[in-house]
Amino acid sequence: MAMLRYTADVRTLLWAFVLMPAVLVVQIVRPDLVTYLWPLSFYFAMAAGTMAHNHNHTPVFKNRRLNNAYATWISLFYGYPSFAWVPTHNLNHHKHVNREGDATITWRHSKKNVWWIALSYFFVSAYFQSGPIKEYIAKAKRSNPALHAHVLRQYAFWIGWLVSTFAVMAYLHGLGTGLKVWALTVGGPGLFGMWSMMWFNYMQHVHCDPWSEHNHSRNITGRIFNFLVFNNGLHTIHHENPGSHWSKAYELHAKIENQIDPALNEPSFCWWVFRQYVLSNFVPSLGSKQVGRAAYDPPTGKKVEMTEAGPMTDTVDALDAGNNAQMA
Ligand SMILES: [Zn+2]
Repeated sequence: MAMLRYTADVRTLLWAFVLMPAVLVVQIVRPDLVTYLWPLSFYFAMAAGTMAHNHNHTPVFKNRRLNNAYATWISLFYGYPSFAWVPTHNLNHHKHVNREGDATITWRHSKKNVWWIALSYFFVSAYFQSGPIKEYIAKAKRSNPALHAHVLRQYAFWIGWLVSTFAVMAYLHGLGTGLKVWALTVGGPGLFGMWSMMWFNYMQHVHCDPWSEHNHSRNITGRIFNFLVFNNGLHTIHHENPGSHWSKAYELHAKIENQIDPALNEPSFCWWVFRQYVLSNFVPSLGSKQVGRAAYDPPTGKKVEMTEAGPMTDTVDALDAGNNAQMA
């Protein structure tokens, strides 16, 4: 595994090149098993989203070509070309952290954290992210032909994948069954992959305090949840050390855990969701409350600067230099 930058990514490769394709192939060959296996396809789309996120900050391989190929491959399971994380997330969200200027702000149409806002956030956020993505592609076209080619390749592979997987399924099982299998193993999971990533962005910042040192993000600290999402539940340390590898997240989190408002360290993902979107409808005090200053309420007289978390550039070295920039 000398080609990996961190040996922990053996698990990333196991997910990407063994489990994710295996679950898909089994369902293509045995459509009768889709009834039982489709939730796995949805999970793997979400996992591919967290893997794309990790890869855009800290590439898996030492070799640039392998990194590009891997980024394109996981795009197929994630449900959208993974380069799009760079303009919307690395260069935008990490810089503004849910404040004015962040394309993914959680408070755009409401300051509440209720189920219908959480559900509709995806559509609003996706609309506002399309601007930075288009700008990024136009800039790459003007000044970075290699990056532009990479972007076009990702779109081509992704569209080719959507069409060809459907063609194979329709050929093997007929149009009706083929469409059903495709919707549950490729189309649906792809939408869910994107939806879930945006929703995680929402839950990790809503009612947090982006003006504070350590209360700018909400964490899910449970081990099982973080195993499934490659430690993406630990979000405070991610904003503070965007270039650090996901496998180091618990170590870093332990160092600042005591300095984070306890309300923002949530052990159980399922309990948080149930409490927030079911129970709080009946018992409002169980819902999340604004911690510290709101994102839309800047302190006067204090200049707070944030640094971009680094673009996917041509060399790993350049990428690391950008990523290791810390929040001021
Ligand atoms: Zn990030």
